[in-house]
Amino acid sequence: MVNMPNLWIEIDLDAVKHNYRQIISKLAPGVTLMAVVKADAYGLGAVPVAQALEEEGCRAFAVTRVEEALLLREHGIEGEILVLGPSSPEEWPQALAQRINLTVSRLEWIAEINEVARQLEIKAGIHLKLETGLGRTGFTREMLPALCEALKAAPYLDLRGVYTHLARGAQRDKTYTRKQHEKFVQYINILEENGINIPCRHICNSAGLLDFPEYHYELVRSGTLLCGHFPSPAFSGTIDLKDPWTVKAKIVHLQRVPKGTFVGYQSLYKCKKETTLAVIDVGYADGFGVAPKLVPQGFVDLIKIIIKNIAALFGFQLGREKVLFKGKPVKVAGKIGMQLTVIDMGNLECHPGEEVFLPLRRTLANSRIPRLYKKNGVICAKRVIREGILPINQE
Ligand SMILES: *Cc1c(COP(=O)(O)O)cnc(C)c1O
Repeated sequence: MVNMPNLWIEIDLDAVKHNYRQIISKLAPGVTLMAVVKADAYGLGAVPVAQALEEEGCRAFAVTRVEEALLLREHGIEGEILVLGPSSPEEWPQALAQRINLTVSRLEWIAEINEVARQLEIKAGIHLKLETGLGRTGFTREMLPALCEALKAAPYLDLRGVYTHLARGAQRDKTYTRKQHEKFVQYINILEENGINIPCRHICNSAGLLDFPEYHYELVRSGTLLCGHFPSPAFSGTIDLKDPWTVKAKIVHLQRVPKGTFVGYQSLYKCKKETTLAVIDVGYADGFGVAPKLVPQGFVDLIKIIIKNIAALFGFQLGREKVLFKGKPVKVAGKIGMQLTVIDMGNLECHPGEEVFLPLRRTLANSRIPRLYKKNGVICAKRVIREGILPINQE
C-alpha cells in the first residue's frame, strides 16, 4: 500500500498506451510516430511515459533539450531520441556518445558538430530544421546553397531527417499551413537537387497529423494526443483518446462558519449562509488556478474576457475554479493561496482526509507534486522529486 500524500497526480499509463495505439491506427504503414515527451511529457513524467510507449513498440522520441534526452537514456530508453531545440557545443560530446540526434538550425554547427564526431570517431545523427513560417529557428531559403556545401564537407554527420514546425496547425483556417507546406516541399527539392539525400521528412504535429494525412511523409511528431488531449476543441472526438491525468487532494481542515464570513486574501469571498469551509493543500505555487495568458480567438471571445474582467472589478468572480467532491462540483472560495485553497462545501457531509478532484493544467502542474503511476488499474510506481543542493566549485 502506498502512503498517500495530501496532493498527488495519478497517471494511467494504460491510457497513454491506448492513445498511442489509436494514433498509430491513423497512420499509413511505414509512417513513424515520434512521441514528443518534452517538458516532462507535458507534466506526466517523461521517463515512465517513454517506458510505457517503448513497451507499446514506440521507437522514436523527441524532447526540447539535451538534458531531457540524457535523462531518458539514463533510464534505459533505447529508441531514437531527437533534441528539437537548439543545443550548445558543451553538450554535444555527451549527447553524441549517447546516440542522441541533434537538430541543426545554424550553419556553423555543421562543421562544429562534424569535428566533435570526428574526435569521438562516431557518426553524429542530425535533423535539419527548416524555417517555413514559425519564425523561431531553422534555415531559410537563402541559406540552403551554403547549407548543402557545408553538409558535403561534413563526412561525420549522418543526416537522418529534415523537418519544419507548423505555426497555425490548430486553427480553422488552413491557408497558412498550406503555405508552410509549400515552402517545405520547395526547400526539400532544393536540398535534393544539390545532391543531399533525405531519408526522412516531417512537418506534422498533433494538429497536422489529424488534419493533413497527405503531409505525414515518413514521420509525424505528436505529444498532445498521446497525453489524451486535442490541439483545439475543434478536433474533439476525431479519434478516441483517453485522459491519463487525475489530480487529487485530501481535505486537510474543516470548519463550520456563520453567514457573512469572509474568506481569503482581500476578502473577495463572503459566505451567503452558514456553510462548511474545507481547506486543501494546493495553491498557485503548484500551478492551481494558473492559466497561460490567452489571446482572444475572435470577437465573441474578446467580449467574454472583457465581461469577466469588469465583473471581477466589482467583486464577482466569474468562471471561478471548481473542484469535484464525490462527483459534485464545489466552488473555490476566495483567492487561491500560494499553497492552500479554501473550498465552500455548503451542507455536504465531508470529513478530513476525503479526496477532491482538481482541474490542474498538465504543463503547469509543479513537478514537485508526487506522480503515482497506474497500470491495469493499480498503482505500480511513484515519483517524488526532491531537489538536491550541489556546491559550485569556484576556481
Ligand atoms: C511540441 C512539439 C511537437 C508536438 O506538438 P503537439 O501539438 O503537442 O503534438 C512537435 N514538434 C515540435 C518541433 C514541437 O516543439
